[in-house]
Amino acid sequence: MFGNTMYRDTGLKIRTLHVRDIRFPTSLGSHGSDAMHVDCNYSCTYVIIYTEGDVEGHGLTFTIGHGNEIVVAAVKSLSPLVVGQDADQIFNDFACFWRKLTSDSQLRWIGPEKGVIHLATAAIINALWDLWANLQQKPLWKLLVDMEPEKLVSTIDFRYISDVVTKEEAVAMLKAMETGKEEREEQMKRVGYPAYTTQAGWLGYSNEHVKTLCSQYLANGFTAFKVKVGQNLEDDRRRCTMVRKIIGWDNKLMVDANQVWDIEQAIEWMKQLAEFKPLWIEEPTSPDDILGHATISKALKPLGIGVATGEMCCNRVMFKQFLQARAMQYCQIDSCRIGGVNEVLSVYFMAKKLGVPVCPHAGGVGLCEMVQHLQIFDYICLTGTTEGRMIEYTNQQHEHFENPIKVIHAHYIAPKMPGYSTVMKPDSVEAYEYPHGSKWQEMFAKGLFPDPTKQNVFVCPAK
Ligand SMILES: [Mg+2]
Repeated sequence: MFGNTMYRDTGLKIRTLHVRDIRFPTSLGSHGSDAMHVDCNYSCTYVIIYTEGDVEGHGLTFTIGHGNEIVVAAVKSLSPLVVGQDADQIFNDFACFWRKLTSDSQLRWIGPEKGVIHLATAAIINALWDLWANLQQKPLWKLLVDMEPEKLVSTIDFRYISDVVTKEEAVAMLKAMETGKEEREEQMKRVGYPAYTTQAGWLGYSNEHVKTLCSQYLANGFTAFKVKVGQNLEDDRRRCTMVRKIIGWDNKLMVDANQVWDIEQAIEWMKQLAEFKPLWIEEPTSPDDILGHATISKALKPLGIGVATGEMCCNRVMFKQFLQARAMQYCQIDSCRIGGVNEVLSVYFMAKKLGVPVCPHAGGVGLCEMVQHLQIFDYICLTGTTEGRMIEYTNQQHEHFENPIKVIHAHYIAPKMPGYSTVMKPDSVEAYEYPHGSKWQEMFAKGLFPDPTKQNVFVCPAK
C-alpha cells in the first residue's frame, strides 16, 4: 500500500485551480442546529488544483450556506499566487509559500490570517497537501508520519509563536516520540482513534429522535455524547436528564453552547447543568474572548467542568494565547478555519508544549474526513496517547466523498487511500453546486428555498 513513490515529485507546475460553491440543504432536517445556528445548510468551498502531470489536489473549507460565494471569490483572488507555481518547489519550502499566500502585501489587509480570506487559504492549502500525499501515494497521515522531523517542521511558519515553541523544540518533540511509532501506527490501522458523537444532540431534533439516536449510538459502541445547549435552561435540563437516562453515568456527556452567553451568564448557566456532570462546555461565549474563557475555566474548575473551544479560533496566535491563558482545557482544532495543515500542525506543537489535549472539531462537510489524518499523526508522532482525547463524529455528507471515513465501534480507522480524503464525487458536485446544480434547481422549483438568481442578490456566475 505504502510502496515506492509512483510519480516523480519534481517539476510539477500548477496548471490551473478550479473552485466550486457546493451546498447541501441540511436545514430541511434541522441537522447541525444549535443555539446560534438554527438553519445551517452545510456547504463547502471546493478547490481542485491541476498540475501539468496527471496528479490533482482536492481541498475544501467548510461554511454553513450564505456567504460561501464570498469564500469562493476569495479563493479566486488568491489563485494567482498559486497557479504557475511548481508544486515541488512549494513542498521544498512550504512554510515560505504559506507565508507568501497569507502575507500578500495587498490581500492581507482583508485579514490578516482571519475570516473569509483565511478560510479561502485553508481550502487552497488543504488541496496542496492532498496533492503532496497523492504524489507520494500515501494517505496524508502517513505522509506526515514518514517525514523526517526536520522536514515536517519546515512546513510551519513559526512567526508570532516562537515565544512558546521554536522549530528546534518541535523537532525535539518528534524525535523524543520515535520509539514505539510502528506499534502506534498498527494500532491506528487496526483499532483506530476514539470518536464521540454529536449526531444525537442537535437542538432542532425532537425528544423521540434524540432518544432513538442515543440508543443507536450506544449500541454501536459510542461512549461519549455531545448535546447542544444554551437556548432555554429548563429545556437544557430536561434534555440532559433524558440523555443521561439513556447513556447512564459511566459514559461521557459534553455540552456545546455555540457562543451564545456572556461570561457571568455562562458560569451561572453551567452551575445549573453541573449535576449532569458534563466533561466540557464548548464555546460558552465569543470565540475571540480569551480572557473571558479563562474566567469561565477558573469558575467551572471546582465543578469538574472543562472549557473546550477552537472551531472558530482564527489563527495560531489566538490559539497560543488561549493555551497560555489556561482558557481552554480541550483544544478543538479545525482543519479549515485556520490556514490548513501547516498552521494546524503549529497548534498541535503548542498544545503539546502547554499540556492541553487536542479534540478536533468535525462534522460539517469533509471535516471528519480531514481531521482524522491530523489526530492520527498526533497520536503516532507527537503525544502517543489518546487519554482525554477524542475526534468529533457526525453522520453527515460522508456519502458525497470518494473515500469517506470508516468508523468502527466508535473508532476512526486510519485511512488507506492516498490523499487527504477530500475528493468529492463528481455526481454530488454537479447536483449540489449552488445555485445551478440539478438538486438546487429542483428545490427552487418546489419552493423549498428562494432562487437567488431571481432575487436582487449577488449570485456566483455559472462556471
Ligand atoms: Mg461546537
